[in-house]
Amino acid sequence: MPTDTDGPSVSSGGRTNEDASQFWTRPELAQSPNVTRDASGTSTIVPESEREQTFVSAARRALAAYRPSSLNVLRVSQLDAELLDAELTSVVKEQFLAIFSLFKPTLKEKYEPEFTALLQYLMCHLSIYSMGASYGLQLQNLKYRNEARHSGRLEVSAIDAPLSKWQKMAHALLYIGGRWGWIRVNRHATTHEWSAQPERDWRNRVWTYLQKAENVYRALSLVNFLVFLYNGRYRSLLDRVLRMRLVYTRREMARQVSFEFMNRQLVWHAFTEFLLFLVPLVNVERIKNTIIRAISGPVTVDLPDHICAICHAKDAPKTVVHTPYRTNCGHVYCYYCIKTSIMADHSFPCPRCGQKVEEISRCT
Ligand SMILES: [Zn+2]
Ligand SMILES: [Zn+2]
Repeated sequence: MPTDTDGPSVSSGGRTNEDASQFWTRPELAQSPNVTRDASGTSTIVPESEREQTFVSAARRALAAYRPSSLNVLRVSQLDAELLDAELTSVVKEQFLAIFSLFKPTLKEKYEPEFTALLQYLMCHLSIYSMGASYGLQLQNLKYRNEARHSGRLEVSAIDAPLSKWQKMAHALLYIGGRWGWIRVNRHATTHEWSAQPERDWRNRVWTYLQKAENVYRALSLVNFLVFLYNGRYRSLLDRVLRMRLVYTRREMARQVSFEFMNRQLVWHAFTEFLLFLVPLVNVERIKNTIIRAISGPVTVDLPDHICAICHAKDAPKTVVHTPYRTNCGHVYCYYCIKTSIMADHSFPCPRCGQKVEEISRCT
């Protein structure tokens, strides 16, 4: 009987699957399985030839090295939840800050970071720290779990480990406290003009380090996001550091998204964008004038010289020529009337004689 150690070594996951499929698709094994059933009902394959023994051992190795499928959580759900949370926070914050509308505006401005931190703590305390999921996550059928307890084969374990006390505390400290501290330090540094201090001064140096730290954080966040797009595990840098992973609350529940509605939204959105692009390119005035000319022929007006024919056509209350300008055909109009007409329509015909107006000059 061959042991599991002899034969070609199995290195990669792809290889093991291949071996297993070769074994299960072999027709002679499928047609004449030398299967015996013992009293308890479990079946065993009794190998006959050397070749079949080799296949059995290959199959055993394949099963031993078989890795359970990894846990996949939709990335779009995770990102949607983040957006929902951000929206909710902004709505609550707006409502909360409305309390201070009757106070001095400086009060709200001065303590805004503290108010924001307090609100964030309250929301996290009521959601993530007590239920393991923020409100946005709950809407997306997601929750946090302690990924440190789910290494290796336990990744797809049916029971999710809840967040530990330390994870919650570290999350509160870094996510809420960290943000608050960062805003406060930046505000202090900006109001006291640390960047304008001489280069040797400690404040200038601290300012430079702060800027560098921010850049490093942004770069790391970007890398984290790219990794997230690749394997869909940790949405933010903080989640990765604290090993807080998002998983489904109820795994069997399907994601309820109406793609029909989304498609319609997309089509309408694209259509309105297209119209917004197209409408400014269409010269409505010119088209209108062209149609009127085509229907009624050249317009000629017989009016006294001191009346502007354009004002008259628009039924303006004052029709006497204001700031007179003369056209190349010799007729006089208000500067505003004739200039806007020419700008809107380059082939604007003179309303009195129908000749194309090419230039205008001030009446002297
Ligand atoms: Zn006029
Ligand atoms: Zn004219």
